[in-house]
Amino acid sequence: MNAKAVMDDLRRRFPNEPEYLQAVEEVVSTIEDAYNEHPEFERYNLIERLCIPDRIFAFRVSWVDDKGRVQNNMGYRIQHNNAIGPYKGGIRFHASVNLSILKFLAFEQTFKNSLTTLAMGGAKGGSDFSPRGKSNMEVMRFCQAFIAELWRQIGPDTDVPAGDIGVGAREVGYMYGMYKKMARENTGTFTGKGLEFGGSLIRPEATGYGNVYFLLNMLATRGIDIKGKRVAISGSGNVAQYTAKKLLELGAKVITMSDSDGTIYVKDGLTQEQLDYIFELKNYYRGRISEFAENFECEYTPGIRPWGYPCDIAMPSATQNEINGEEARTLLANGCFAVSEGANMPSTPEAIKEFLKARILYAPGKAANAGGVSVSGLEMAQNAQKITWTADEVDAKLKSIMADIHHQCEVFGKEPDGYINYVKGANNAGFMKVATAMMAQGIL
Ligand code: NDP
Repeated sequence: MNAKAVMDDLRRRFPNEPEYLQAVEEVVSTIEDAYNEHPEFERYNLIERLCIPDRIFAFRVSWVDDKGRVQNNMGYRIQHNNAIGPYKGGIRFHASVNLSILKFLAFEQTFKNSLTTLAMGGAKGGSDFSPRGKSNMEVMRFCQAFIAELWRQIGPDTDVPAGDIGVGAREVGYMYGMYKKMARENTGTFTGKGLEFGGSLIRPEATGYGNVYFLLNMLATRGIDIKGKRVAISGSGNVAQYTAKKLLELGAKVITMSDSDGTIYVKDGLTQEQLDYIFELKNYYRGRISEFAENFECEYTPGIRPWGYPCDIAMPSATQNEINGEEARTLLANGCFAVSEGANMPSTPEAIKEFLKARILYAPGKAANAGGVSVSGLEMAQNAQKITWTADEVDAKLKSIMADIHHQCEVFGKEPDGYINYVKGANNAGFMKVATAMMAQGIL
């Protein structure tokens, strides 16, 4: 395999899909050597079959808003690869959603799920519908219309969706309810469900907590204590909230949070009372982060991201490409020594280059944020056995999975000078498992 030739071909075939091409290039460029040690991979044209999704469903979602007007959105499900288990990956509702973004997410998900040690393939879905500013009834009607189209393609052993940006407990509940009605089964086809109907304890917390557990593993390789460290977080949704919660518990200082309108800065770190307010503001009132600043009279800057504030650790937890090269250089110049990604592909290729060049602890999302899908896998396991584990049991399993992922990154990513290149490690570890499974199953 020649990584450049693979990319040239994909660029020619999918010229309007920049995020997809970006995600593929990051992986292909780091697995080239390992791939070429196995000539049988090339004979089976494995790389192309791994980069191009198994199938894509695209459909119109028509629904009626509160004023009686008919609205139309696009809906998608990308089933990327099921070599190691049923397709698995979240659903994103955001105005920016398009095929390129969902293809990048489904591609990443395949490698991430492989790293979790659980039997899950990769998928992603979503719509350009934005729940922001919609009433509960509008969100419910949209979710039902979305599932009326998608339900035939998913199932407990086929494809198991979950949440992502714009899809939290409320949306999962509405979608799962409709799925259950259409499919006439109660087998837990979604994860992230309410606790009363098959959800797992610690699933809401899992991505944020898991990212902090991964960070602790990274810090341990350099003997660094998290206590008192200043952490800049972006976003204020599910991942950001639980990242902040675990950090506070461990004595770190959370100095920033944000939303798509702007960033709050609290120099001495958020207090527990302030974080509780953010949970309530975002999850119950669905308000804006600027309201936090008004309430607590802290610094709020509209239209900026958090990376200009001096910090020790950055945990981007909002969206893709939210740290560019310039911002990476600013973070480094201000002394940031660790970046652990809660979001998917939040750092641009230029930013990643800067982090690796500076030899800081840098964990790509497919390793650091894998805790969410891991506990989704544990939710599937509990549903299949019709049992529930305690919060402590699930949390212990989550910690152990994150340590295992860290170990895989170390094994596959340690460089001759001892530096752990987590990008190389995560991509190669994730790749080898999927590739081996694909080879064993023939050309499908
Ligand atoms: P939420 O919808 O709960 O929160 C998203 C947060 O990011 C909000 O604060 C939102 O602000 C902000 N945001 C979204 N889009 C943009 C944008 N274009 N520019 C600036 N800010 C933006 O989503 P999650 O917390 O679930 O997801 C956050 C990230 O983590 C995503 O990249 C997701 O793919 C990833 N992830 C999530 C997992 C999960 O279990 N939920 C698992 C693994 C990864 P606003 O309210 O203004 O839109």
